[in-house]
Amino acid sequence: MEDNENNHVKVPKDHPRITSLMYRHKIIDGMKKLVVAEAGLIAHGRGECFDYILGEKTNMIAIQAIKAAVAQLLLAQHPVISVNGNVAALCPEDLVLLSKTLNAPLEINLFYRKNGRVDAIKHILEEAGAQNILGTDESTMVEIEELSSNRRNVDCNGIKISDVVFVPLEDGDRTEALKKLGKTVIAVDLNPLSRTAIWADITIVDNIIRTLPRMTKIALKYKNYTREQLKKIVDVFNNKENIQNTLEFIIEYINLQKEKAFNILNK
Ligand code: ATP
Ligand code: MG
Repeated sequence: MEDNENNHVKVPKDHPRITSLMYRHKIIDGMKKLVVAEAGLIAHGRGECFDYILGEKTNMIAIQAIKAAVAQLLLAQHPVISVNGNVAALCPEDLVLLSKTLNAPLEINLFYRKNGRVDAIKHILEEAGAQNILGTDESTMVEIEELSSNRRNVDCNGIKISDVVFVPLEDGDRTEALKKLGKTVIAVDLNPLSRTAIWADITIVDNIIRTLPRMTKIALKYKNYTREQLKKIVDVFNNKENIQNTLEFIIEYINLQKEKAFNILNK
């Protein structure tokens, strides 16, 4: 890796961790453009750590959750996709495509609502083709009592009236508040033990960069299904079992890596 005069870091194409490094730089660029909060960098690092112990691949357990999530979103009266800075910086095009495929609006929903951030995120989403982004007009924002400070603001045409909320990379307090408001919550979180993962109705333990394109692909297929078929997919899904299976998967994966590491260390 080398820095040129614009401070742009070039990642060599043959670098073994090129994907991870590319996304790291998207997050850093996002921070420079106000899209990502400083704390978002740390949240990304925590996510990377969990992705590492999941083998950086979408496993079959996550795919089960993704299928249930898509079915639930297609069954919803008012589905909403909540967008924060990290998700907007990592995969704006995928967000827009999923929103259009599911017919679910995007709502900018920030933990750190600093001046200029909403506009910066709106800009990156619009560049990716988004129209009618919610959470951007102060006159349509209302407060939800379950939360303190500026995190309680939601759009009266979006999350406020939604029945199903899709929250990639959400904070635990907000997830809990959404649950208390009676919403069905679908989370994407690489940490299967986070409060968000535990509180959500459907928890997708996967990296958002891999989850979104998979969701769109499945949504295109499920759009032809009847409501009964979709309901069946949601009904057979068990979130508790799914989280348990993910934890077992991590234990097995670490044991396997331990064996591999010791084979090298013992040489
Ligand atoms: P909680 O508040 O739910 O207990 P937390 O405080 O540990 O979680 P937050 O910073 O509130 O973490 O939320 C960020 C979450 O997003 C973390 O659990 C992190 O693992 C996860 N995360 C970060 N990057 C990604 C990513 N690219 N894909 C999926 N999840 C991610
Ligand atoms: Mg948190």
